[in-house]
Amino acid sequence: MTREFAFPGTRARYAPDRVIDIEHIALAIEVDPAKRAVAGTATLRGMVIAPQTKTVELDAVELTIDKVAANGKPATFRHDGKKLRVELPSPLATGAELTLAIDYKGAPRRGLYFVGPDEGYPDKPSQVWTQGQDEDSRYWFPCFDAPIEKATSEVTVTVPANLFALSNGVLVSDKTSGNKRTLHWRLDVPHSCYLVTLAVGDFGTIETTWRDTPVVYYVERGREAEAERTLERTPQMLELFSNKFGVPYPYPRYAQVFVADFIFGGMENTSATTLTDTVLIDERAAIDYDIDALVAHELAHQWFGDLVTCRDWGEGWLNEGFATYAEYIWREHHEGRDAADLELEEWADSYFGEDANRYRRTIATKLFDEPIDIFDHHLYEKGGRVLHMLRHVLGDELFFKSLAHYLGKHRHGLVESRDLARAFEDVTGKVVDWFFSQWVIDGAGHPELDVSMRFDPDTSIATITIEQTQKVEGRTPLFRLPTKMRFRIGDKPDDVDVPIEIVEQKQVFHIKLEGEPTQAIFDPGRVLLAARRIDKPESVWVAELAGATLALDRAAAAQALAKRGGPNAEQALSAALEKDKFWAVRGTAAQGLGMLRTETARDRLVRRLKVEVNPRARRSIARALGEFVHDQAAAAALASVVEKGDASYFVEAEACLALGRTRASRASELLRHAATRESFTDVIRQHAYRGLAE
Ligand SMILES: [Zn+2]
Repeated sequence: MTREFAFPGTRARYAPDRVIDIEHIALAIEVDPAKRAVAGTATLRGMVIAPQTKTVELDAVELTIDKVAANGKPATFRHDGKKLRVELPSPLATGAELTLAIDYKGAPRRGLYFVGPDEGYPDKPSQVWTQGQDEDSRYWFPCFDAPIEKATSEVTVTVPANLFALSNGVLVSDKTSGNKRTLHWRLDVPHSCYLVTLAVGDFGTIETTWRDTPVVYYVERGREAEAERTLERTPQMLELFSNKFGVPYPYPRYAQVFVADFIFGGMENTSATTLTDTVLIDERAAIDYDIDALVAHELAHQWFGDLVTCRDWGEGWLNEGFATYAEYIWREHHEGRDAADLELEEWADSYFGEDANRYRRTIATKLFDEPIDIFDHHLYEKGGRVLHMLRHVLGDELFFKSLAHYLGKHRHGLVESRDLARAFEDVTGKVVDWFFSQWVIDGAGHPELDVSMRFDPDTSIATITIEQTQKVEGRTPLFRLPTKMRFRIGDKPDDVDVPIEIVEQKQVFHIKLEGEPTQAIFDPGRVLLAARRIDKPESVWVAELAGATLALDRAAAAQALAKRGGPNAEQALSAALEKDKFWAVRGTAAQGLGMLRTETARDRLVRRLKVEVNPRARRSIARALGEFVHDQAAAAALASVVEKGDASYFVEAEACLALGRTRASRASELLRHAATRESFTDVIRQHAYRGLAE
């Protein structure tokens, strides 16, 4: 039973009507950190759309409006604390120019945030920053606050002379007079007003370039080395995305600023991304941790979200699905497909969890109460997985060619899901409406597949039976799923890929092979977003764990064998723990051995913990040893890591938790001691406490 996403009676939310097309937003404001206040003038210049326009309605929440001028003449207005209704001195015809200058002030509770030292955190830097998405820019300047309105922007901001202020685009001027400093920023590329940004503080600066574009990082003074370490691959990402997306990075500058107490991980403000300072990486954390996914995500938004924007929040997956998928594209380029594929599994877990425990919805929807409600695992992770599937339906070349076409066609514009489908059709000639219908627009949920296979040596035919067992009801459809079977025949080293397309509830495929398959992998690389139950002989799983081409398929075999148990499974898992070339497969094998809980499995893990060179695999081994409750050998191995420490924070932390789980007698003493250690994001202390609670 899956619950409905929207409450009964929820009305569809569409983009609002516009009477004028705003072309340019100019803010001239003073920000006073001491008073936590903003004051100044917002000038909106545009052209009238609606015939005989007499009034213009804007969003301005909890701001005080002092004065409004329309085309230079005083205009009367009404403001109810949320909406500002401006009465034009005389009606304007379609096409007429209109400039509204609004004098305002306020002490915003949202949109513009003031942070600084307090009793609990006396060292916190004094900073001011904005967060406009999704509908909070209206709390710090009067605007037409919807993605559908895109304008160029200009922010002239006055701050105390000891501070710096970052905004979108390029810095036009920077003047200090007395104890005040005024910085003038301008962006000549239209964007939606949720992307207008301001970040004020005493920042240290790191400057680099990509091609001829300045790439600048801002961070609380004194933390420059951390910022550089954390963001160092930004220019490589700019190069990769400019090539992959087929449109070079579209802005004159790319800035990233770290701020304190940020309410999200990052925000893709146009040409000037804001990031939380909690992700700044120290030298030791960098051994086995990075925030490349976050950096790549916000950077990809500069194309998907900022340059090409969802026309209303119900189409928000066109921003977030792409930004999420860009994390994969970066990882694939930087560390290879096997490393990138790991993210796919994490996304699936997030989405499946939300689907099972919370609700099921279509990815694109108009039915929601507040825009923030749809920024969920359907939007991000399922959205990313849908793009990954589409890439595999079309192939790499056509997929990326289509993205370039989509970005070029809708550059500076607004999009909905059908625009993306049409872009693929334009380039490939393939009508992908069926794909968008089942995954994005009309369909919800995912296929649940039962796959079984057998081989007849007399005819040399493999019979693959596939059933879609999901309940077809509500918005959950029967899916059309193009995929493939991957075989290895005998001891030949090459994969034999056979395309198949599932369209029925139950379908049987007969595939003639050149000999008995040692491997038979349904949907190699687990591209389909599907729950799956796979039935095949143990010997095939064993061969796949030892030799499948993709790490994800080897890991899937490790999991299947761990579930089966028995001496063959243990032997195969032990071999993978020692020999697999990819750390995550060694890690999955370790987890599998932990599930088996035999003495021999334990001994393998204890030995491997000492010699495993990859810290991420060591983490998994430590976790696996935590399965051996009241086992002295496992506890001793973990205690040794907790006592002596590990090069990696995360291995040490994992060992703390695992030691607690063994309930060894010495655990509490060792964990209490470990809890005094300082570490990145306090990971060791937190795991030690969790271990103590076991
Ligand atoms: Zn995002």
